[in-house]
Amino acid sequence: MIRYSLKCDKGHTFDSWFKSGEAFEKLKASNMVACAVCGSDDVAKTLMAPSVSTDKERPLSAPHSPAEQALAELRKEVESKSEYVGTRFAKEARAMHDGNAPIRSIYGEAKAEEAKALIEEGVPVIPLPFGPKKTQN
Ligand SMILES: [Zn+2]
Repeated sequence: MIRYSLKCDKGHTFDSWFKSGEAFEKLKASNMVACAVCGSDDVAKTLMAPSVSTDKERPLSAPHSPAEQALAELRKEVESKSEYVGTRFAKEARAMHDGNAPIRSIYGEAKAEEAKALIEEGVPVIPLPFGPKKTQN
């Protein structure tokens, strides 16, 4: 196993373990290397020298700082328990609040003024401290 320190286009740094240098290059070439914090596949090796380990128990990707770790966990929690509604967020949240849609956990994107309007209407929304999931096309 070889460890690389990686950095995504949003500036998150994290460690990832790969079978070999070639394995990293191959995964990178097919956009299979994703940021451990935000999921962006626009990652690059940082200048830090890679280190090698035979420890197979290590996670494949680990964020660097406790804050990034907490963010990554929150993101995982939100994404596994909530339905992603994208830019329909404000509409869906309002429909649930008005009883026009089944109550469930949702997350998505809302413009600042949409979020403000929801809060003023008493719709319970909270801002998430990370960007939207990369949409697959
Ligand atoms: Zn990132």
